[in-house]
Amino acid sequence: MSAAASTEPKLRVNDATKVYSTRSGDLLAIDRCSLSVKAGEIVSIVGPSGCGKTTLLWSMSGLHKLTSGEVLLDGAPVTGPSPEIGMVFQDANLLPWRNLDANIRFPFEIKGTRPDRVWIDELLNRVGLEGFGGRMPRELSGGMQQRAALVRALSFKPSVLLMDEPFGALDAFTREEMNRLVEEIWLDRPTTIVLITHSIDEAIFLSDRIVVMSPRPGRVANIHEVPFPRPRSLEIMSTKDVFDLTNSIKLEIVGKQQSRYARTSAIAPAQAAS
Ligand code: ADP
Ligand code: MG
Repeated sequence: MSAAASTEPKLRVNDATKVYSTRSGDLLAIDRCSLSVKAGEIVSIVGPSGCGKTTLLWSMSGLHKLTSGEVLLDGAPVTGPSPEIGMVFQDANLLPWRNLDANIRFPFEIKGTRPDRVWIDELLNRVGLEGFGGRMPRELSGGMQQRAALVRALSFKPSVLLMDEPFGALDAFTREEMNRLVEEIWLDRPTTIVLITHSIDEAIFLSDRIVVMSPRPGRVANIHEVPFPRPRSLEIMSTKDVFDLTNSIKLEIVGKQQSRYARTSAIAPAQAAS
């Protein structure tokens, strides 16, 4: 590999803009978002609800087209779903009538390709689901279902993993367990990961960098480096540096929302008087 090729980002988003056409008119969801993710890097995206995080992630995955701008994977435009890109959503999306094994096989059946059984067994082992292949989704806890979704996403050996609030529906302890699991999997085999999360703790625990988006239309408002060594122990996560970073990110997100509310309430009395 040439030196130039090795410095090429794994994933690059250039001026991504997405306008949704809705019944009440055009809606600008994201506006000229640019972002580079290096191979093996974990980047989190945080921002107020509705600011366009999912829109941005779907564009990265090729699940929908941008209005303008582009997404490049290894320098080539992403124009549709690719086996190079694995996705995990907030809901595990397991088919309720298929057992766990058959759920993991499902995307291979659709594509008409043969799953790598050894790799999948290794993944199932890794996430502690060995021996659960015959269980139906309803027999699995939320955390187990999400672990199965992670196995399904990694079963293709994607070089990029995109996760949209993957642990948002789990209780706090299960969520921390899942964070440690993702860290372990990543330490074994560093994959490029982009993670959307509402949890700043989760973002700091897992990420090399954290992208803060502005309220809609979503723009990249700030990018924070997360300099803490891995694995990120409880001791590291309890330091003042982590506390300070958490607070400044929170302020960037909530501060913007507050200023929006402040504006609203500032004009309210004048409107009431008129
Ligand atoms: P986030 O993930 O940050 O909560 P989304 O990307 O889901 O934000 O949504 C950004 C904005 O785009 C929101 O106002 C949402 O209502 C709107 N939106 C999302 N998907 C669609 C769609 N398919 N059609 C129309 N509007 C959409
Ligand atoms: Mg979303």
